[in-house]
Amino acid sequence: MFQGLLRVFGVGRETLHPLDPRSLEGRSPKWRALQQRFVREKKCCFITRLRVDLEVHHKIPYHVRPDLELEWDNLCLLTRPVHYLIGHHCNWAYYNQNFEEEAARLAEEVAAARGRDF
Ligand SMILES: [Zn+2]
Repeated sequence: MFQGLLRVFGVGRETLHPLDPRSLEGRSPKWRALQQRFVREKKCCFITRLRVDLEVHHKIPYHVRPDLELEWDNLCLLTRPVHYLIGHHCNWAYYNQNFEEEAARLAEEVAAARGRDF
């Protein structure tokens, strides 16, 4: 189980899945800097508001629309587990076509839950 989870999140892999967002294969030379600027500006996961293990998600992924790779409005900052689950439904080759709507709803629900007593 634990090993399976590690595999899901790409821990301990020697090579990345070609569609893993951490792979820089074929990416624009501008991607890394843009990604770093996006993280600096957005600061936290759009859904959880956490500031750890952040990744930049392409709402329409690079392998589907490479022309949108550097499009600011096509990006969303997420923690890696949220990215994999909500952005890609646990398959990097797949993407959530209702991402914006679902992410907005989940962000509201998380914020509401945080507002309740712990
Ligand atoms: Zn993504």
